[in-house]
Amino acid sequence: MASGIVNIRRDVDDKFYRYRMPVLTTKIEGKGNGIKTVIPNMSDVARALSRPPTYTTKFFGCELGAQTTFDEKNDRYIVNGAHDANRLRELLDVFIEKFVLCKSCKNPETELVILKSGRVENIIRDCKACGERTDVDMRHKLTTFIVKNPPVKIKKGKNKNTGGDAAGGVGGAGNPDPVADGAESPKDESDDYLTKKIKAEAAELNTETTLAKEDWPADTSPEAVKQRVKALEGSLAATVLGDDDGSDDDASSPYSVLGRWIEENPDADTKARSIAIYKKAEELGIEKKHKTVTILVQALFTENIVTEINSYAALLTKLVTSEKHQKALLGGVERFLGFTHPDLIPTVPKILMAFYQIDLIDEEVVTQWGTHVSKKYVDKDTSKKVRKASEPFLKWLQEADDDDDDDE
Ligand SMILES: [Zn+2]
Repeated sequence: MASGIVNIRRDVDDKFYRYRMPVLTTKIEGKGNGIKTVIPNMSDVARALSRPPTYTTKFFGCELGAQTTFDEKNDRYIVNGAHDANRLRELLDVFIEKFVLCKSCKNPETELVILKSGRVENIIRDCKACGERTDVDMRHKLTTFIVKNPPVKIKKGKNKNTGGDAAGGVGGAGNPDPVADGAESPKDESDDYLTKKIKAEAAELNTETTLAKEDWPADTSPEAVKQRVKALEGSLAATVLGDDDGSDDDASSPYSVLGRWIEENPDADTKARSIAIYKKAEELGIEKKHKTVTILVQALFTENIVTEINSYAALLTKLVTSEKHQKALLGGVERFLGFTHPDLIPTVPKILMAFYQIDLIDEEVVTQWGTHVSKKYVDKDTSKKVRKASEPFLKWLQEADDDDDDDE
């Protein structure tokens, strides 16, 4: 059975594409006339698209000429009849094309807006990436449903008491999952055990930094100066292209180029590889960009990430130069875990500890990160899982901090 995470645009074959969604799954229930197709993860998929799950389900119904039922309270979305999962996935692609992607730039970060002029209603895709407002084909039957059940603005970030449930129809906001509130903690015992384990492991980590300053691409040789000019031009070009948000989706962006290059140029000699990676980033004009750090984490690390963090400590230190870079680093970890290594999510505390031990992340940054679920890098569920798993480390950090206070 196919499971996991795919690009929202399945035609984009790029693992550095940042817009992802869970693979839609189906379950056939009932028999004979009562046979139906249940879509157990409809709300997760819809959330990744920032659309209510009722829209996607209804869309399937329209396309297949089938009745649909939704029970939002119990999170049940059903299409009557037996339908093949692959067929529904293809239809989902069509839905995304028609009702999600910006017509102009193909970015999925859009919002549906209903515009009324007189008695005529039009549905517009309002694009957050390029600012264009492009229309939806009003001949599609789903538009009637959308107009009758207008989209409710999904609030981002903190949704304490936003009254999301009253919205009726929007799957996004009022998610009842308890997240890292600190209040409920039935597993305190195991947490303590984990904390101890982390402490012990942290003590064993050696944090030698193997690259000396002079190993990095030098500052003064004519060759280096030329490189620098080239890099400057590169970053200027990148600035003109407005690289600071969104354009890492493109397979030809310098970030994707760097990511693929790192993957295609393995080298057992981590020192040589570190320098080569840095040079490549410089050549692309992105060695100072925070996004470069995100891509690096995704492309460089393997299941041995904890030891690799130490091997590449010098490179990481060279690239992570601000709070923004630290956040990009943590975002890279989220993607690394969410996209390719969900099996490693339980090791998040060790990963964070390894970063902490080489002074790459500040306490405030990681604490802020760990206590705020964000959809910036991965879908909300992955974001939650990663943060939940990081709790023992954050707790340890907090305790270490309290100890410090006692000393003073
Ligand atoms: Zn757009």
